[in-house]
Amino acid sequence: MTTLPDFYKNNHSICNKNSSLKEVLQYINHEPAGIAFITDDNQKLCGVLTDGDFRRILLAGAALEDTIPSQNLKNFTSAEEGESIEELIKKTNKIVRIIPILNKKGYITDYFRYEHKTHITPVAEPSLKGNEFKYLSDAFLSTWISSKGKYIDKFESEFANYIGTKHGVTTSNGTTALHLALKALKIGRGDEVIVPDLTFAATINCVLHAEATPVIVDVNKDFWTICPDEIEKAITPKTKAIIPVHIYGQPAEMDKIMAIAKKNNLYVVEDCAESHGASFNSQTTGTFGDISCYSFFGNKIITTGEGGMCLTNNPHLDERMRMLRDHGMSKTKRYWHDEVGFNYRITNLQAAIGVAQLEKIEQILLEREAIEKKYMNILAQIPFIEWQKTNDARRQKVVWLVAAIINEGKRDEFIKLLRDNLIDVRPFFYSLGEMDIYKKYLFSNKNSLEISKKGINLPTIAQVNVEKIKQLILEKFHHD
Ligand SMILES: *Cc1c(COP(=O)(O)O)cnc(C)c1O
Repeated sequence: MTTLPDFYKNNHSICNKNSSLKEVLQYINHEPAGIAFITDDNQKLCGVLTDGDFRRILLAGAALEDTIPSQNLKNFTSAEEGESIEELIKKTNKIVRIIPILNKKGYITDYFRYEHKTHITPVAEPSLKGNEFKYLSDAFLSTWISSKGKYIDKFESEFANYIGTKHGVTTSNGTTALHLALKALKIGRGDEVIVPDLTFAATINCVLHAEATPVIVDVNKDFWTICPDEIEKAITPKTKAIIPVHIYGQPAEMDKIMAIAKKNNLYVVEDCAESHGASFNSQTTGTFGDISCYSFFGNKIITTGEGGMCLTNNPHLDERMRMLRDHGMSKTKRYWHDEVGFNYRITNLQAAIGVAQLEKIEQILLEREAIEKKYMNILAQIPFIEWQKTNDARRQKVVWLVAAIINEGKRDEFIKLLRDNLIDVRPFFYSLGEMDIYKKYLFSNKNSLEISKKGINLPTIAQVNVEKIKQLILEKFHHD
């Protein structure tokens, strides 16, 4: 009599081939792996059934009282004792995840289980390895989890200080920051606000939410930021403000924009949602305009999950934004409202994460810059990729998401190639003027239309395998 391997002792995943389907199902149900190893009358392995196989057997018309159909006992993948891990992994795939291991006599001695990673390399990923959790749990344990608490004050003053303004007013997100800024400036019905055509929709939506009229103008062909000449052409007696966007970390031409604003008596609200720490002529973006607005969404340069901030040097605007952020309530008379306000507050929990993120912002910016350099070096020989420009000495850009132009009409093919290989790539924002809901506000979008059709954002995370991307490109497009 042969002694059976230990695997057979008290094992609830092994059952005889003459069992009814109901019995097999009980085995599968009992076993966390969701599998039954089927043995013949000599106790040797003759089949493997997963719960997926089971579904298919039932759907093919079998009843629970029937025995296992013989065709389900023919083909299964197995390994021999002593095979290396690499060999075992090779035998698995997205469907076959469990491999029985057999000894020379055909008895099962163990099984090998392997889950193939199917998760995609994301375009962005927050880096939370500093004091984020420490401060968050401190805020949590303090019970100050709502919109008052020391981390809010700290985040506001430290971020304002980092960028270089006197005041910081946190908000629930970057979009509410923009809306709050326009409301604080009393921009509303009958006013026109100039916005760039190439931006995230929040830039124009906040103008519409303020009931003002957006005027969409074209961007610079090389740098993708709002075009000062187009701003000048679009100004009318109704124009009240300009919202330049430092798109994908690239500073807008703030010298020219501020001169135009001064000459025409216009407000400037900087949309800094993608440009934390970028400078123009060595002056930090976010310090030029009347108010600048930041986003701390999960994919931004620093994050609080959701969150935003308005920065200003003007104490009157600071006060107005605080009042409007908190339902428009009078500062001196509780529950007395002088204006129709909002609840645009951030929580102390989010601000706690923000304080920790801010401690690392310099390091985060350097890391992002290094990632962009890695792309530029490794993909330097690919003729159809054109990187975001750095050849304007006035602009000290930062890297939000690595951005590039894919020429030769290859953009959509390029995106598909990477996505098929589980690397996420994003196309640029669509031209605002191209969308039905914004069309009627379009002034000009010639360059922007072209750029938005060719632009991409690449994964801006340290683990991205740029060598693999290069190899995929070379295979697909046959460049050497
Ligand atoms: C992200 C973003 C916003 C909006 O910020 P949220 O925090 O997501 O509301 C506004 N403008 C630009 C340019 C952005 O990229």
